[in-house]
Amino acid sequence: MTGDPFASMLAPMFAQLRDQNLWRRREVRSSPQAPSVQMDRETLLSFASNDYLGLANDPRLVEAFCQGARRYGVGAGASHLLGGHTRAHHELEEALAAFAGTPRALLFSTGYMANLALLTTLCPRHGQIFEDRRNHASLLDAAGLAQGDRRRYRDVGGLRRALDAAAPGGLVVSDGVFSMDGDMADVPALLALAKAHGAGLVLDDAHAFGVVGPEGRGTPAAYGLGYDPALVHMGTLGKAFGVFGAFVASSADVVEALIQRARPYIYTTALPPAVAVCAQAGLALAIAEEHRRVELAERIRQFRTGAAQIGLRVLPSSTPIQPVVLGDAARALGASRFLRERGIYVPAVRPPTVPKGSARLRVTFSAAHSRDDVERLLGALSALPGDVV
Ligand SMILES: *Cc1c(COP(=O)(O)O)cnc(C)c1O
Repeated sequence: MTGDPFASMLAPMFAQLRDQNLWRRREVRSSPQAPSVQMDRETLLSFASNDYLGLANDPRLVEAFCQGARRYGVGAGASHLLGGHTRAHHELEEALAAFAGTPRALLFSTGYMANLALLTTLCPRHGQIFEDRRNHASLLDAAGLAQGDRRRYRDVGGLRRALDAAAPGGLVVSDGVFSMDGDMADVPALLALAKAHGAGLVLDDAHAFGVVGPEGRGTPAAYGLGYDPALVHMGTLGKAFGVFGAFVASSADVVEALIQRARPYIYTTALPPAVAVCAQAGLALAIAEEHRRVELAERIRQFRTGAAQIGLRVLPSSTPIQPVVLGDAARALGASRFLRERGIYVPAVRPPTVPKGSARLRVTFSAAHSRDDVERLLGALSALPGDVV
């Protein structure tokens, strides 16, 4: 007998991951998130962050964080319901509700937890969940935890058929911007179908808030939709707003239900108040500094034009997520390695995160990227060897 039962238990899994080119490793960054990063002692031009507006290292936000820590200390010290809920959290919730155009908003520590909270609270056991098959892992996990009766759909037509075949009610659940493909869900169609069926729509706008729609108000606003109590809108504070945390914006009833019943809300420590102070400053900058969205859109356009000239297969996307599909995992890894040798950091995304045969380079842009940064990326991509492209 050996003293380590885990070693033999885990060995087959490790062998399989290595065989299939699916072994993952973390890189150690020693600089702020920015176009130029220090990674494992190299300086790299990065196209990997979700810091779409270039706010994660903004000196004004660093100062807001410090001020928040000086006022509140560093830890909330308790959950929201047991004394951890501060004025900083409360004011941020009010600002988020105003931004999203909903009666209320509720803060969560992470988007992952917000999604677990939403589906476990809004879906009764065996309740119907209609989910896009490309939904973020946190939504898929949430549907599993909710023990709902799950139907996966591929597109709006598939959703219509699934709803037609089902009893009224339930939840339609979708990303607003799909995190691996970068395209936007047809939110008006999803909402209309859901409502016609007596169902609610849960929309995860993690990649849209701050970026998509007027003043970055998200995918419903991009389609011209206003407040609708049938729509529950979720977003994160760790992407375009540059900080950390997440929120749900919705009717007062849905927020109250989450406060009363959602275990990922109730049984966890509140965010550090300084994070809330800082996130409120990030939200204000994201709203006010329209030039960031303009610059971001220019970089995206520049990349798409250049990539088309090279003949790369870039998925149709108008968002900062621009996937270059290469096929199998080995190719995507090879391309990522090729760029890395030229000082450019673009991660390869492989199954199971994306479907088999669609491994890709996931290029993401930030308002902080310059024209020259994008030119440098295009130059390196145009030199990708034929056995990779
Ligand atoms: C990033 C992301 C989340 C998780 O948000 P965190 O705050 O990072 O936990 C949820 N949904 C989508 C679509 C995301 O991209």
